Amino acid sequence: MSFSTLVKDELCRIELHDLCCRKSEIMGVILASNLFTHEKGSRNVKVVTENAAFARRLYTTVRKVYGLSPEVSIRRNSKLKKHISYSIIFASMQIINKLLYDSEISVFHNDDLDIEESTLKNVCCRKSFLRAVFLSGGSVSDPEKTYHLEIATRNEKCTEIIKEILKDYGINVKIITRKGNYVAYIKEGENIVDFLNIIGAHSALMEFENVRILKDMRNNVNRIVNCETANLEKTVNASVRQAENIKLIQSTIGISNLPPNLIDIANLRLEYSELSLKELGEMLNPKLGKSGVNHRLRKLDEIAEKIREKSDYNGPV
Ligand SMILES: [Zn+2]
Repeated sequence: MSFSTLVKDELCRIELHDLCCRKSEIMGVILASNLFTHEKGSRNVKVVTENAAFARRLYTTVRKVYGLSPEVSIRRNSKLKKHISYSIIFASMQIINKLLYDSEISVFHNDDLDIEESTLKNVCCRKSFLRAVFLSGGSVSDPEKTYHLEIATRNEKCTEIIKEILKDYGINVKIITRKGNYVAYIKEGENIVDFLNIIGAHSALMEFENVRILKDMRNNVNRIVNCETANLEKTVNASVRQAENIKLIQSTIGISNLPPNLIDIANLRLEYSELSLKELGEMLNPKLGKSGVNHRLRKLDEIAEKIREKSDYNGPV
């Protein structure tokens, strides 16, 4: 089951007790579908979905609220037998007029359904509206793959209202048009979690968060490993350079001719190339801290550099 289906099935199990929220849900679905067709001189509002639970929910909600039954038609995709689409058709003018009047939806001259955002007064109704538009045209990617939630509607005004409401919740929504649809989408994982919370998909939200935490942990572990590898590389490179310099000193002026405090450290570095500065310091007598060791090794680097300058030395020993 896709993550979208998981969310939608959960949403369809939410029971609405208040009439205001039931009406807001019907309004959201109709507004998002925006299929206001003229057939044989009469006007139809048609909602098409592939989600059976949603089709059932819409049908029963309309019955509960208005005591009227919309028509239902079922179509099987001829190529993909599994794909079944359900059409809920509000064909009788009686239902349509009731719906439109109740929802305070007005019809534009070009047949685009229109509504003012202020119609959605209550917080409960705004949530119902968001749930409805997600049920009718929403999808959310499996969080394992990517963070993406979108709601496609056929109605520009509806998509703007979605954006406005979500802005109040601090959720960043972008809008694009795609094949005549208006698509509101959310990209940040945090915002998707907030959206799922608002529409009441709490189990799906937990699932989403679990994946997100695991992904974060994996990223952190990778970052730490990369960082440690980089440090290790730096240490090894430094050790190789130091040993090369000491060998140059050995073959030119000789280690025994170095200042006394540099002789021991030069011998130790040559012998123990894998040891860290701290470990080298502990082998000295008297012991020396990391920065002291670093200071002496730098001196050796400087001496080697001078030898190179004098003898036009180039290339390893
Ligand atoms: Zn309400």
